[in-house]
Amino acid sequence: AAKFSSNSKVKFFAPEMEAKEYRLLKLESDIHRAIKEKEFTVHYQPFVDLKRNKIIGAEALVRWQHPKDGIIYPDAFIEQVEQLGVIVELGEYVLLSACKQFSAWRKAGYDLEKLAVNVSTLQLQHPKFIERFRHILQYTKVPPNFVEVEITESVLVGNANKTVALFRELQAMGVKIAIDDFGTGYSSLSYLKQYPINILKIDKSFVSEIISASPNTGIVSAIIAMAKSLNLDIVAEGVENDWHVHFLKQKQVNIVQGYFYSRPLPPIQFEKILQQSNWNKSKPAEIDQES
Ligand code: C2E
Ligand code: MG
Ligand code: MG
Ligand code: MG
Repeated sequence: AAKFSSNSKVKFFAPEMEAKEYRLLKLESDIHRAIKEKEFTVHYQPFVDLKRNKIIGAEALVRWQHPKDGIIYPDAFIEQVEQLGVIVELGEYVLLSACKQFSAWRKAGYDLEKLAVNVSTLQLQHPKFIERFRHILQYTKVPPNFVEVEITESVLVGNANKTVALFRELQAMGVKIAIDDFGTGYSSLSYLKQYPINILKIDKSFVSEIISASPNTGIVSAIIAMAKSLNLDIVAEGVENDWHVHFLKQKQVNIVQGYFYSRPLPPIQFEKILQQSNWNKSKPAEIDQES
């Protein structure tokens, strides 16, 4: 397509660049519209307590119900939402939706005690984050000690003093701090020790390494040992089969989430699995909205 080889714009207008630029521009205008039109929704993936054999709560996961393209998953847009500077807005929307829903479920009599919400670094660092967070909890009447903020290890790489202060403010409210995707980032034991953290979430890539009767569980075992030595609670994500459950139980990791039990579900479907009185750990939920 390039006619003038001496022109610096030649490279910019190479066809593949053009397509990429176009896609980003389109995504940008799409996201602005989506926020205005409330196209984002929240799905819920159960946390299962293996000891008590019941659903004790949920992680809130955002989805984009695109009018033309159907459901879009966060890995395809969160980064752009961050770059566009609208993550604060989206994050607050997710938190408010999730708290409203959680409060409604509790009001309806469901015995839930754990609501996890993902918070991106930029959102956490917004000067009004704590104030607005507190406001939403008060407005929705969700007991703060049921709420967990999931952040990734990248938060720990920034300004330690500031992050520690933020964590402490959240914890003073009663909110817990969970490190998501643990093991995939940069944290080391000494890093972690500097921060007031409550929970480590073992990343699904490590859980998936637990294979039947395999001794190849070094990383998972090391993470569990690390959590124990730091006195942290532990949650395993990406639990997909019996072997995972068996192994984690043996290691006394009792709070898990994963496709073995249920995919993230729209609120109505989530409520349905809460209602299944015969809900049983060995029988994964058959409702499968997302596959
Ligand atoms: P995450 O917080 O680590 O969430 C777990 C992801 O693993 C979810 O993907 C979930 O659907 C998926 N998952 C759960 N169980 C299994 C399993 O057994 N096997 C496999 N292979 N995957 C499983 P999802 O919903 O696509 O979200 C991807 C990431 O997007 C999240 O990872 C989180 O980092 C981010 N995200 C989601 N919602 C939000 C949000 O509201 N705000 C922010 N800032 N980030 C969000
Ligand atoms: Mg998470
Ligand atoms: Mg995770
Ligand atoms: Mg993840």
